[in-house]
Amino acid sequence: MPPKTKPAAASTFRIGYGWDSHEFKAGVPLKIGGIALDHPKGLGGHSDGDVLLHAITDALLGAVAAPDIGTLFSPSDPQWKGADSAVFLEEALRRMKDAGYEIANVDSTLILAEPKIGPHAGRIRQHLSKLLGIDSGQIGIKAKTPEGMGTDNAAIAHAAVLLQKSSSGEHRSQKKRDR
Ligand code: MG
Repeated sequence: MPPKTKPAAASTFRIGYGWDSHEFKAGVPLKIGGIALDHPKGLGGHSDGDVLLHAITDALLGAVAAPDIGTLFSPSDPQWKGADSAVFLEEALRRMKDAGYEIANVDSTLILAEPKIGPHAGRIRQHLSKLLGIDSGQIGIKAKTPEGMGTDNAAIAHAAVLLQKSSSGEHRSQKKRDR
């Protein structure tokens, strides 16, 4: 008899992956990972265009099989115009907690011609650690320039997350049932 497989919801670990891109645009502030960076151009988009927060949000949502960021926060919905992307991330974290998981670690890669991310990576990690409620040692930020890609006018972000069953996970779902 083949070994019995556990239902997905009961897995000890869940992996998530997210990707996003936004085009550089003059006259808007540049925000990456919730941090404002000094640069002549920002990222266009319906919200604040924070490509890194969007990729991490989608990675978290994907890990718990929730709808993606564009489905939850439609770009055609005026209430998200200019929105702080931390709001999207908070919703993804809420869904992750409701599913009974916590973050083991997050890794990410930014691909953009400029500005250089290296000098700001420490600040971005510190801020992400606050937003995600984890230690900065659980957050990877890597940056590359788009060699031969022809995407110098865009910022691209990839993010991977690993979730583990939260020790309070069952307690939380129990409380939810009791409500
Ligand atoms: Mg986006």
